[in-house]
Amino acid sequence: MKVRAQIGMVLNLDKCIGCHTCSVTCKNVWTSRDGVEYAWFNNVETKPGIGYPKDWENQKRWNGGWERTASGGLKPKQGGKWRILANIFANPDLPEIDDFYEPFDFDYDHLKSAPEMPAFPTARPRSKVSGERMEKIEWGPNWEEILGGEFEKRGKDYNFEGIQKEIYGQYENTFMMYLPRLCEHCLNPACAASCPSGAIYKREEDGVVLIDQEKCRGWRMCVSGCPYKKIYYNWSSGKSEKCTLCYPRLESGMPTVCSETCVGRIRYIGVMLYDADKIADAASVAGEKELYDAQLGVFLDPNDPAVIEAARAEGVPEDWIASARKSPIWKMAMEWKIAFPLHPEYRTLPMVWYIPPLSPIQNAAAAGQIAAQDDMPDVKSLRIPVRYLANMLTAGDEAPIVSALERMLAMRSYMRSKTVDGVVNLGVA
Ligand code: SF4
Ligand code: SF4
Repeated sequence: MKVRAQIGMVLNLDKCIGCHTCSVTCKNVWTSRDGVEYAWFNNVETKPGIGYPKDWENQKRWNGGWERTASGGLKPKQGGKWRILANIFANPDLPEIDDFYEPFDFDYDHLKSAPEMPAFPTARPRSKVSGERMEKIEWGPNWEEILGGEFEKRGKDYNFEGIQKEIYGQYENTFMMYLPRLCEHCLNPACAASCPSGAIYKREEDGVVLIDQEKCRGWRMCVSGCPYKKIYYNWSSGKSEKCTLCYPRLESGMPTVCSETCVGRIRYIGVMLYDADKIADAASVAGEKELYDAQLGVFLDPNDPAVIEAARAEGVPEDWIASARKSPIWKMAMEWKIAFPLHPEYRTLPMVWYIPPLSPIQNAAAAGQIAAQDDMPDVKSLRIPVRYLANMLTAGDEAPIVSALERMLAMRSYMRSKTVDGVVNLGVA
């Protein structure tokens, strides 16, 4: 057993109100500089949607795509491997600026200087880079939210699958949810594996994944290699950049900026202990259901005396072991099983976990309709289909999602049964 400590985060999607405060505060601290105007280390997506950058979940578009193995798992297509090799000479799989967006600012001067007109003067956007006035804004990180109708029209051009395709655009069946995203600080980071300069490294002490700016040569293999598309090329410095998990703040005992400023208080940070010897096996398990279980299997019980002893022997500091023992991440992901990794089928073992949203499901639950997709009688009352959440969080395995939603409903019902002074009212006369 090779015990290591890793900082992780759980985001409770049930509480995200899509205010974007996390993104804005992150931007103010980390990317309000030349060359990364377009970059949002933290962004909040409206789902279902094609996200930021466009189409990031469409793995067929990046590195030649994936194919299913005989045992039911996924592997890069044969052509994909050649494309990965070809990338060393020319990298064809990079998202372009139009996949992110051209950053703009409004022409506020126009508001003050426009001559009197019958209509109120409208501030026109200007490109943040060139300063040119823009005729219209073609795309932005939250386009789906801002202009759903346009998205519906454009959506037909994109590769939506299954349930998304069936229900999107039918007014009475639409659903939405917010998905805040940041670098996953993966246990098995594809960005580090794809860097020809060895500039990306995972910190031994806490697992934070960083790019050494001195070593980065701007190859951008990390941009195409990261399946979450969470690395950004700085066109001014010629180096790649990414979320640092606010490591200078963590080192001084403070939470990340996104966590501290989150209006919905949806973010929990904690330490997990894991067995580094199990990473390679967990990442290469064939079947998707087995893959999800194998990923859970790399984490070690921080209350197990044998694990504590092994952690001490490996030099994990006492205060990290103590943190792991009271970690909310361990409780939510492993004990209560209500938090799940984003797209575990990407096999990088991501460390930002999500509690699936419950609120729009309340009516369905009241009608006894929370069930796996096959038994789901009425997609209208279920709103966010279990299948959709499972495809996002458990590589398609619906049972853990259903169980988490039921647990959360039970907790909600329990909390609502409490009276204001804390006495539980269970309906007994
Ligand atoms: Fe690297 Fe992407 Fe994983 Fe972040 S999410 S550690 S950038 S592979
Ligand atoms: Fe959601 Fe919190 Fe970000 Fe607001 S600040 S969008 S509630 S994660």
